[in-house]
Amino acid sequence: MARYIDAKCRLCRRSGQKLNLKGDRCESAKCAMQRRAFPPGQHGQNRPKVTTYGQQLREKQKVKQMYGVLERQFRRYFQLADRYRGVTGTVLLQLLESRLDNIVYRLGLGLSRNQARQLVRHGHFTVDGRKVDIPSYRLKPGQLVSVRESSRTDKLFVENFETAAKKERPSWLEWNPETFTGRILSVPVRELIPVEVNEQLIVELYSK
Ligand code: SF4
Repeated sequence: MARYIDAKCRLCRRSGQKLNLKGDRCESAKCAMQRRAFPPGQHGQNRPKVTTYGQQLREKQKVKQMYGVLERQFRRYFQLADRYRGVTGTVLLQLLESRLDNIVYRLGLGLSRNQARQLVRHGHFTVDGRKVDIPSYRLKPGQLVSVRESSRTDKLFVENFETAAKKERPSWLEWNPETFTGRILSVPVRELIPVEVNEQLIVELYSK
């Protein structure tokens, strides 16, 4: 499965905002956006005029990078969102939020979406009691995501649980620490999706 493996902090610097791609480091003083908050490259500190197309492209790249999705898959998400009833931009974000790797991240079981994706690939989770190792697996309200019994004492998880306990979970997700199980309570409305993007620009880009 293809994925982006190049330097991640460059993506934040290019987009001009924190995309939280590196877990703990993103909250620390080591974050590149605190030290070099300008685009990478020799001319990074120049301020070229950004066209409308450039803005649309930037918003699309930002969302792709945040959720760790490559172009072809992202376009499929857009086509799906376009077919569904509702505001296309919001539906697009809701589809991305319903990915298993994102739910694992939102539940605090992975410190970043990248780590969550890797944990899913390594088969640490079940969905409604069945092992699922596909990061893009789409979850619906009412479904249960559990950490597999054999993984619950894994050192990495124990550390992540400690960090997760301090984090606030979105209100559309529920976590039961006794059974190591999370439940999707509802499809999140736009206000409950904490991503700073103008998704309407993505819709305009793909609608050309
Ligand atoms: Fe982005 Fe995290 Fe790197 Fe900061 S540390 S620039 S938020 S990936």
